[in-house]
Amino acid sequence: MKKAIFLDRDGTIIEEKGYLNTPEFIRLKKGVIEGLRALQDAGFYLFIVTNQSGVKRGWVSRKRVMRINRTLVEILKEHKVFIKDIQVCFHHPKERCGCRKPKPFMILRLLKKYPDIDIKTSYVIGDKDSDIKLAQNVGAKGIKVFPDTDFSKVAKDILNK
Ligand SMILES: [Mg+2]
Ligand SMILES: [Zn+2]
Repeated sequence: MKKAIFLDRDGTIIEEKGYLNTPEFIRLKKGVIEGLRALQDAGFYLFIVTNQSGVKRGWVSRKRVMRINRTLVEILKEHKVFIKDIQVCFHHPKERCGCRKPKPFMILRLLKKYPDIDIKTSYVIGDKDSDIKLAQNVGAKGIKVFPDTDFSKVAKDILNK
């Protein structure tokens, strides 16, 4: 069985910029490359699972969100960090979809696609309570990060368990 890390995007691996609408403003947070590489080397699959309701709010287009995600994946790839898959919820909270975090659908979809994942030894890492709730909802472990969290320390904590 494989272990997985389900990463939030904004405020977790890249700096929170409100509704990020252009790839030039992507800034990786401290320790992200080092931390993700360590987790990857230890055999974790890396996924990004992100709510992007700014699309429905009219603040950023769906195309832009996808372009930002592709650019982010490219930047990480240049540093030999490989994101296995990305799930995006574009819905507005009012739509009450099943995928907006903390609802579990985005992760459930990944578990279906990658049936070798053991969810109990996997982690959701995010900067919001909804990320931690999501971890509980799927039976994974949750780790909350803060604006000044050094991601390499988060990885170390996981690997030392
Ligand atoms: Mg976030
Ligand atoms: Zn949704």
